[in-house]
Amino acid sequence: MVTGKNYIGNQLSAKGNKTFQTFNPELNKENSPIFTEATSEEIEEAVHLASEAFKEFSQVSGDKKAVFLNAIADEILALDDLLVQTYCSETGLPEGRAKGERGRTIGQLRSFANLVAEGSWVDATIDTADANREPQPKPDLRKFNFPLGPIVVFGASNFPLAYSTAGGDTAAAFAAGCPVIVKSHPMHAGTGELVASAIQKAAIKTNMPNGVFSNLNSSGIEVGQKLVSNAGVKAVGFTGSIKGGRALYDLAAKREEPIPVFAEMGSINPVVLLPKALENRAQDIAKTYAGSITLATGQFCTNPGLILGVKSEGLTSFIDTLSNEIVKINPSVMLHPNIKEGYLKNKEKVVSQDGVSVTANYSEVVQDNYAQQAVVTVKGEDFLQNTTLHLEVFGPFSMVIQCEDEKQLEHIISNLEGQLTGTIIADNNELETYRNIVHALQDRVGRIIFNGVPTGVEVCESMVHGGPYPASTDSRFTAVGVGSIKRWVRPFSYQDWPNNLLPDALKNENPLGILRSVNGIKSTGKID
Ligand code: NAP
Repeated sequence: MVTGKNYIGNQLSAKGNKTFQTFNPELNKENSPIFTEATSEEIEEAVHLASEAFKEFSQVSGDKKAVFLNAIADEILALDDLLVQTYCSETGLPEGRAKGERGRTIGQLRSFANLVAEGSWVDATIDTADANREPQPKPDLRKFNFPLGPIVVFGASNFPLAYSTAGGDTAAAFAAGCPVIVKSHPMHAGTGELVASAIQKAAIKTNMPNGVFSNLNSSGIEVGQKLVSNAGVKAVGFTGSIKGGRALYDLAAKREEPIPVFAEMGSINPVVLLPKALENRAQDIAKTYAGSITLATGQFCTNPGLILGVKSEGLTSFIDTLSNEIVKINPSVMLHPNIKEGYLKNKEKVVSQDGVSVTANYSEVVQDNYAQQAVVTVKGEDFLQNTTLHLEVFGPFSMVIQCEDEKQLEHIISNLEGQLTGTIIADNNELETYRNIVHALQDRVGRIIFNGVPTGVEVCESMVHGGPYPASTDSRFTAVGVGSIKRWVRPFSYQDWPNNLLPDALKNENPLGILRSVNGIKSTGKID
């Protein structure tokens, strides 16, 4: 049941008097539950409990953390239809998407459970002592990954499950041994609360310390700002807009003790159409892209917002087909009136720039909160000179850049801001012919796709979901896949520490049987 309260460790709490409701964009009315925003006192309490919980949780074994993570997955599944219905009522997204995203969330939790149960992820690295080394004896040094401490997680409006309360950031932080305080997204506070109740139940059932998890409501940016400024918080996970991510990054940097903010932000995901592919199959590519641009009303961080090609008959044919096809697609609802407002505002801002031609704009009347998809084109030179055209228009929108020649195409790519993805559509041996273009794109993105669409982020170990700024604040890490655990740990060394007091991962006997580096050699064996 949705209570509208904050979850402060194992307690429910609603001490404040600022309340808000979520909104059903399909019905165009508020949902009934009333949420109470967390007070400063409740924020303090959540951080204090998390700091206390960290002392115990940082020492919990991989096996026990796996039981906790799997229990969260089970409790989320047990929420059944209530979760699905709440999700749909707060986002306008269809039931199929809710179930798919739930499956992805469960899968992420279980993959982290497997990772920590196996245990080698701690990267145990051991250099044994050599008392006879000249001129000085060599000490015994043993290094592994140690959790950072309490983490604050901000989820995005467009992924209420997979990138929110028990999403990738939270699952990775728990796996690392970090308590989590979620700043609940106000647009899906009910979905967030239900998932929070699942985490709380799982934590109690599996004997995790009180404070390992809290979920705080907010209807504005103050709660998040207070959390990021709180000295007890040691790192931040954020998924959302560049504006929001950057504000929190700057805030964290200004603290007396600066802390890392791993922000995954907006992206326009350039798609490069190479000449042969355009010559051979411009219309087919355009039809595929009409679907990709409008998928989930364009509300994906990997939405293809920028398409680039060199002027040619093929590119003209692509633009014509894309423009004709995209208006045939039935408009769909956006997540919230504010998201629609943002879409209209940013679309208008781009459309009103010099040199921009609108080639498609769904013109029939649509229901409240539905988005009218659009395609625009612009010359390469105009795009290069006007950074307003580089803006993410979050929604069903894409801009086609008509480049003068290959040189300009490469120059534009090289001057793009960092992106989550880049896609190359090519035929025959074009990838080899256009190595310079491929190289330019690789330099600007976290993931490169060949002859596909960027929408759809596979959850697996080799996925990189991140990229050069502003796609993310730290391109060395991914937010998706079990490798994302590395954001929440720091390397830590023991020198000449008694064997019986070392963590199991570093003991001579290797009781966990994990893969370690011992004197430079990878091994699962014991040290004699
Ligand atoms: P958002 O407006 O940035 O909000 C995200 C969260 O951050 C909300 O909880 C919001 O709180 C908070 N927030 C925003 N600005 C803040 C500030 N200055 N100080 C403190 N807190 C702040 O983003 P959204 O509308 O939820 O999500 C859409 C965006 O996310 C799109 O740009 C999309 O491309 C991006 N996205 C990226 C990824 C990725 O993995 N890279 C995935 C999905 C979405 P309030 O709502 O309370 O203000």
